[in-house]
Amino acid sequence: MKRVVITGGAGFLGSHLCDRFIAEGFHVIAIDNLITGNLENIEHLFKLPQFEFYHHDVSKYVHIPGPVDYILHFASPASPIDYLKIPIQTLKVGSLGTHNMLGVAKAKKARILVASTSEVYGDPLVHPQTEDYWGNVNPIGPRGVYDEAKRFQEAITMAYHTYHGLETRIVRIFNTYGPRMRLDDGRVLPAFIGQAIRGEDLSVFGDGSQTRSFCYVDDLVEGIYRLLMSDYAHPVNVGNPSEITISQFAEEIIKLTGTQQKVAYHPLPQDDPKQRQPDITRARQILGWEPKVTREEGLRITYQWFKEYLERKAQAQPA
Ligand code: UDP
Repeated sequence: MKRVVITGGAGFLGSHLCDRFIAEGFHVIAIDNLITGNLENIEHLFKLPQFEFYHHDVSKYVHIPGPVDYILHFASPASPIDYLKIPIQTLKVGSLGTHNMLGVAKAKKARILVASTSEVYGDPLVHPQTEDYWGNVNPIGPRGVYDEAKRFQEAITMAYHTYHGLETRIVRIFNTYGPRMRLDDGRVLPAFIGQAIRGEDLSVFGDGSQTRSFCYVDDLVEGIYRLLMSDYAHPVNVGNPSEITISQFAEEIIKLTGTQQKVAYHPLPQDDPKQRQPDITRARQILGWEPKVTREEGLRITYQWFKEYLERKAQAQPA
C-alpha cells in the first residue's frame, strides 16, 4: 500500500484530499495543528486502519516513522481574516513548514506537491493569469504574510528540485469552495451563505466590481491528483475560469437561498485584488484537466451542506 502524508489534513482542502487518497487505496497520514483545521472534517476516517492522524505543527521538526511515497503540503491559514489574526504562523508554515516537509521528502525519497496560490500573482496586472506572470504583490500589506510565504515556498521547492533532484509539484490554487468550509472563515462564500441563513444583509466589500473565479472542491481535488501523478515540476494553475463580480455573486446567493435580505456595502480591504481568473491552458495540456461542475450545481450542493451542518449543530446543543 502506497503511503501519503497530507499536512493540513483536517482543513477544508486537506480533508477532501484525505478522502480522495483513501478512495484511491492509499495509506493516509494526516497532520494538522488544528489552528484553522477541524477534526470534524476527518472524523469519519478515524475508524479506518489505513488512516492515521498526527496532531502536530509542521513549522516544528517533523518525524514520520516508516516509508513515505507522496507528500501533499496543504497546512496553512488560507483566508484573509485568518492571516490578519495569525500572521506569524502563516509566514512560518509557508516557509519553515515547507522546508521541514521538503526535508522529509528528501529523507524518504518521496514526491512532494506543495499548495501554492493565485495570491502569488497579487493584484494582477495581467488578465487572465498565466503561470509565467510574476505577479504584483505588496510584501508589507495585510496579505503579504501569506503571499510572500507562498512565493518563498515556490522558490525553496524549485531549489530542492534543482539542487537535490527532488520530485516536486507546485499547484497554484484559485478560489475554491464546497462542503467543510468554515462558516466563520471570512471568505466570501461562507460569509454570504451564513448571512443569508441568519437573515442578515450580505456584506459586499467595495463597490462589488472586483472579480473572482470559483472552483468546486471536487474539480480542484481531481486537478491536484492528476498533477501529483504527472511528471511536471513547474507551477500549474488549477481553478475554474468562470469569472464573476462579487456583486453578481451576492445576487446568485440571494437567489439560491431565497433570502429577503439585500446587499450592504462595506469598505474594500487594503490590497484586495481587483480581478482574478486562472488561465488553465497548461492544466488542460499537461493534465488533460478542466473543471466539470458549474457554479449553479456546486453552490446548490454547498448550500445544502451548510444547512445540514447547522441543523446537526443545533440538535447537538441542549435547548
Ligand atoms: N468579500 C466581500 N464580502 C465578504 C467577504 C469577501 O465582498 O464578506 C470580497 C473580498 O473583498 C474579495 C472577494 O470577496 O474581493 C473574495 O474574498 P475572499 O476573502 O473569499 O478571498 P480572496 O479571493 O480575496 O482571497
